Amino acid sequence: MANIDAVYDLLDASYHPNIEFIESKSTYEHLIAVILSAQTTDRQVNQVLPKLFAKFPEPGDLAAADRSEVERIIHSVGFYRVKAKNIIAAARAVHERFHGQVPCDLDELLTIPGVGRKSAHVIRGAQFGLPAVIVDTHFSRVVRRLGLAESADPEKIEYAIAGQLDERRQYRFSMTVNLHGRDVCHARKPRCAACVLLGVCPRIGLPDALDDLPSKRKAAPPGA
Ligand code: SF4
Repeated sequence: MANIDAVYDLLDASYHPNIEFIESKSTYEHLIAVILSAQTTDRQVNQVLPKLFAKFPEPGDLAAADRSEVERIIHSVGFYRVKAKNIIAAARAVHERFHGQVPCDLDELLTIPGVGRKSAHVIRGAQFGLPAVIVDTHFSRVVRRLGLAESADPEKIEYAIAGQLDERRQYRFSMTVNLHGRDVCHARKPRCAACVLLGVCPRIGLPDALDDLPSKRKAAPPGA
């Protein structure tokens, strides 16, 4: 198992101090953006946000929106029907139950339609500066290769990491590990030889020799 603080320090030094995947102007906008970001790229989400919030700037506006109009605006993000339904319901929840203010409490966030633990932690960490372990596919893969979590279950991973890492480091750790998974520790072809964590990483589930990585094996000539 890697030392989690050593991993934190190495990644912290490797990435920009401010990592932001979503461009939002308020906590409410961030919440809607996070709901839209499921199963799609942040770039696609960032492209529809200006039009969506120009038309529906406040939670009350989106809560009262015609769903077909919202579907037209967010069409390009995929799963637009269910997402339109969810963001309208989320805006209604914020408008009616939380008086226009997105809550910071985890349990309250989880009552908002379309918001799961991952999204709730994104809001808590990015918008409120609260402890937040954000488990997505990249984070899950990297921490398991590092031996910091064993289970594939996102909630168990969240608790495993939260139990090892100081609360003040959790959000930054989530962001840098996520970026590291996108940039270096790829699902099929992790770039271990070039990885800043190579010296502390047990590379769980990967071949011992760097030369045995799937990418290298694939590149070998037939019969080699
Ligand atoms: S050494 Fe390899 S497995 Fe470990 S974090 Fe780096 S890229 Fe991922």
